[in-house]
Amino acid sequence: MKPLAIFGGTFDPIHIGHLSVAWEAAELLDAEVRLMPASVPPHRLPPTASAEQRVAMLRAALRGQSRLTLDTRELDRSGPSYTIDTLHELRKEFGDRPLVLLLGADAFAGLRSWQRWRELFDVTHIGVINRPGVDTCISVELERAVAPRRTEDLAVIRRQPAGRMIELVVTPLEVSATRIRELLAVGRDPRYLLPAGLFDDPALLAPYRESFAH
Ligand code: ATP
Repeated sequence: MKPLAIFGGTFDPIHIGHLSVAWEAAELLDAEVRLMPASVPPHRLPPTASAEQRVAMLRAALRGQSRLTLDTRELDRSGPSYTIDTLHELRKEFGDRPLVLLLGADAFAGLRSWQRWRELFDVTHIGVINRPGVDTCISVELERAVAPRRTEDLAVIRRQPAGRMIELVVTPLEVSATRIRELLAVGRDPRYLLPAGLFDDPALLAPYRESFAH
């Protein structure tokens, strides 16, 4: 059965880094990848764009292909969304299908601050994606917890529903939403760091340009 991979984030805004690594992960795992925007990220400042605006950007970015899809369930829920709850819900929905939680190496390094993080392996595999230019040092405690779960064998991920950790080596792209927001806020136009669809409608990037306009 083809794995279902989940790639969560604030996507404030979605950029070519997200899309390219999600696409390559889909190819490596032979999986469908769902991009899952988070509503109130429990451990971060609120996003600049509203949930509706982030979804509109995701839709524009994903147009024209079917391998990367959008799942808005966390936005439809009230209050903070914890990944572990979402994964339990997906597990119920998909039975024994392999689930893979995709995390950039920086997000993986911060895993210990997540709610019930050890429980994640009961319901999902974790696919760690390399990311240049960010702190990816992992603590001794995290390394100890994941060491017995590590595999380099993609077939293991396809065979088992959950419980393993695999490093997915993708083309490194040093792109971040923070940098893109900074560029837009000073009136720059980071055209080739964002998917082309985001320039079709000027309203899509307006939330980030506001500080420049005032
Ligand atoms: P911000 O700069 O606002 O923190 P971001 O660019 O890190 O945003 P998020 O929406 O926070 O984007 O990231 C969602 C997921 O995508 C995280 O797991 C993150 O590690 C991963 N990710 C984002 N950009 C890249 C990239 N260029 N390469 C690999 N992974 C990435």
